[in-house]
Amino acid sequence: MFSLTPEAAEPRLAVARGTLERLRQVPELALRYRDCPDPGTLDGIAALPPLLKDDLNLALAHLRPRAEHGATWLFQSGGSTGAPKLGHAPTGFYMSGVHAHWQPLDRDDVFVNAWGAGRMWGAHFLAAALADLSGCQVIAVGSVAQDEYAEWLAFFKTREVTAIGGTPSVLRLWFAHARAAGLELPHLRKVLWLGEAWQPQLEEDMAAVAPAARRWGMFGSTETWVVGTNTPDCPADLFHTLPDQLVHVGEDQLLDFTTLNPEMLNPVLRYRTGDAGRLEPCPCGRPGRAMRVLGRRDSVVQVRGLGLHVDEVITRVEREPGVSRAQVVITEAGGRAAGVDVLLLTAPGADVDAERLRKEILSGTFTLSTAFQHDPENFRVRPVTELISNDRTGKTAHLVVREGR
Ligand SMILES: [Zn+2]
Repeated sequence: MFSLTPEAAEPRLAVARGTLERLRQVPELALRYRDCPDPGTLDGIAALPPLLKDDLNLALAHLRPRAEHGATWLFQSGGSTGAPKLGHAPTGFYMSGVHAHWQPLDRDDVFVNAWGAGRMWGAHFLAAALADLSGCQVIAVGSVAQDEYAEWLAFFKTREVTAIGGTPSVLRLWFAHARAAGLELPHLRKVLWLGEAWQPQLEEDMAAVAPAARRWGMFGSTETWVVGTNTPDCPADLFHTLPDQLVHVGEDQLLDFTTLNPEMLNPVLRYRTGDAGRLEPCPCGRPGRAMRVLGRRDSVVQVRGLGLHVDEVITRVEREPGVSRAQVVITEAGGRAAGVDVLLLTAPGADVDAERLRKEILSGTFTLSTAFQHDPENFRVRPVTELISNDRTGKTAHLVVREGR
């Protein structure tokens, strides 16, 4: 199933044929694509082999694409571990196409750009490009240190800030600090987000700090750039895809993305991000099918030879009252899981019975009860004041694997 009808997509498939031709020039991929027929229909697209993250990086290393006008920007692309992989984009980051369909900001807004800048991160600059098109005021804050929140929040209040944007993990910190300090942002109406799934716990803090604020989401990656957007009237995991983005639901509900934008530098052709999803109508009433993101299919990890569904554990734990976020940490020793910890970020003042939760998860999760049959003490559930985040990407993943004793 595709996000676009044959009538809408097929006249624009010349871009996909051009991308295929570029991929055939990459020595490591030439064999795979050599005999693929040039796609003239959506069925032709579906018949092409999917492109994976490592393939895309191989292709970019060989093709070294350059923007037609202005600078070519290099950004970190995917991969939570190891050396940065690269995505390329021209100045503007394709945001005029996004702005044509989605205008969360307007000229009267005072917008705090709280996505981290630097370190080859893309989102800050993408949001800046959207602000530019919107003609609003911009306060480019980026990331701040633990002891700087109070001062910045007071400044936001003075400036009558109306909009803020960041990854949900970062937004949680801003709202949690404001709430803990009893500070309100009465003018704040718009919360833009991108980079991670929305965190429903954020709504609680938003209701206390900025009762008029509503969420406005973007879905994308540094490889595809923005694929879809939503509004406060849409569910947080449902996105209206852009006409330049051809989204396909393949086997095992895996999503793949094909660009129809002739200016796209990354060779995005049936590119799989690892996200699963489906296409369905949106209750906001906008016609056509929207993309429901169901989470990552690569969230299954091996623990002592058994597959553990990390997202299922997280979902179970985050349903617990008082738990605002959770993280699974696997400690490996000599390539084997020595222990599994579920870290709980709890709401201020919440009293969570971690031991009861531990027993429930252990008995209710086949992988864990079997893997830790002889040493159940090595499966732990414990409250923490901070989850482990990746300093390089600024993201807080559901799963952390580390080497330990
Ligand atoms: Zn909608």
